[in-house]
Amino acid sequence: MTDPETLADRVQEGDLRIHELEDHADHDTAAAARQLLVERESGTDLEAIGDYAFDAERAEPNIENMIGAAQVPMGVVGPVPVSGGAADGDHYLPLATTEGALLASVNRGLGVIRSAGGADARVTKNGMTRAPVFRVAGVAEAAETVEWVSDNVEALAEAAESTTSHGELLDVEPYVVGDSVFLRFAYDTKDAMGMNMATIATGEACELVEAETPASLVALSGNMCSDKKPAAINAVEGRGRSVTADAVIPGELVEDRLHTTADAIAEANTRKNLVGSAKAGSLGFNAHAANVVGAAFLATGQDEAQVVEAANTITTMDTREREDGTTDLYASVSLASLEVGTVGGGTKLPTQAEALEILGLRGGGDPPGSNADALAEIIAVGALAGELSLLGALASNHLASAHEDLGR
Ligand code: NAP
Repeated sequence: MTDPETLADRVQEGDLRIHELEDHADHDTAAAARQLLVERESGTDLEAIGDYAFDAERAEPNIENMIGAAQVPMGVVGPVPVSGGAADGDHYLPLATTEGALLASVNRGLGVIRSAGGADARVTKNGMTRAPVFRVAGVAEAAETVEWVSDNVEALAEAAESTTSHGELLDVEPYVVGDSVFLRFAYDTKDAMGMNMATIATGEACELVEAETPASLVALSGNMCSDKKPAAINAVEGRGRSVTADAVIPGELVEDRLHTTADAIAEANTRKNLVGSAKAGSLGFNAHAANVVGAAFLATGQDEAQVVEAANTITTMDTREREDGTTDLYASVSLASLEVGTVGGGTKLPTQAEALEILGLRGGGDPPGSNADALAEIIAVGALAGELSLLGALASNHLASAHEDLGR
């Protein structure tokens, strides 16, 4: 018998383990059995968690021990007016969040950017990194290893690229700490976020390093990558896409729509995002870029833990004098390490794939890499809108009242 009740009984009797259910039933039945088991043991009713709208088997690469789905409300903001290196035109950006007022705020910022004629955006650097750590006897062997690596980048590329038809090794940057050697491999992973791709490719390259140098691999990730942790190296060198968006907002628009002045926004940005962040020792010199990035990541199937890297964003807001004596606002965001993909990972799941379809960016781009570049540029303009709106609210002092008016 493979009905959920029987399977749940068997787990409770110790006859089956919770992760073995898919071996005895189809994926949806296994999820239902696990849901039932958890309901029994926790005295809960998990009707909402169990009410999911995709084939559980399709989620197999993305989740283990599935009991259902976490449904996060999704909305759209926009149209996002972007003139980018890869993205062009107006796009509705899907955002999934539980934070009331976020979409309203971003939408307000986008309305201002639209009225100002849109935003420019460009990916200025692209490289997904993996940095294994090797053990050597001491600095002499470390130097020997580093020298071999710099003389043999082509051979390393050949080894690494033998594992992927899309990935290209761009660079190997060595770092030495006593008897530890770190090699930071950077790849163009095209439309994939690339963390699996880069890890597999680097594993192959490491075999060559071990064969040709005195170095012994200790760990395929030596934390100089640096994945899913706050790290200055990502803020400085970039990881994934480094992407910048900017717009010039006429002074009258700032006054009419944001109810403040370019001067007041520029001052709020300097004192808060630049001075305040410096004083706090922050790596993020922005108001809430991670808010837009996180919501876009959830909607489009990105790896949500990498929001931490996306917070490495610098926002600038400066005044620009016009010849007629009026003052415009120059606004920019520079996201040093935005790790996005339109293939692989969570992008294949049905709701996430639909969200990418809204943007016209589902799957691989033509040329490869252009869809992920475009996604990065659109998210960057969304983040710019979020910065503009929040700084405008702070400068005009109505942040608290907006939340109160929306009842949260
Ligand atoms: P993936 O799902 O492992 O791989 C995507 C694959 O799609 C590529 O390897 C590539 O195959 C293929 N592909 C087809 N068209 C492509 C195109 N236009 N551009 C690029 N690739 C194309 O995804 P991933 O992006 O490498 O890794 C993302 C996953 O890694 C997420 O699920 C994330 O949670 C997880 N992750 C892993 C680690 C880790 O250490 N392993 C760390 C963090 C996150 P070919 O390579 O054969 O060309």
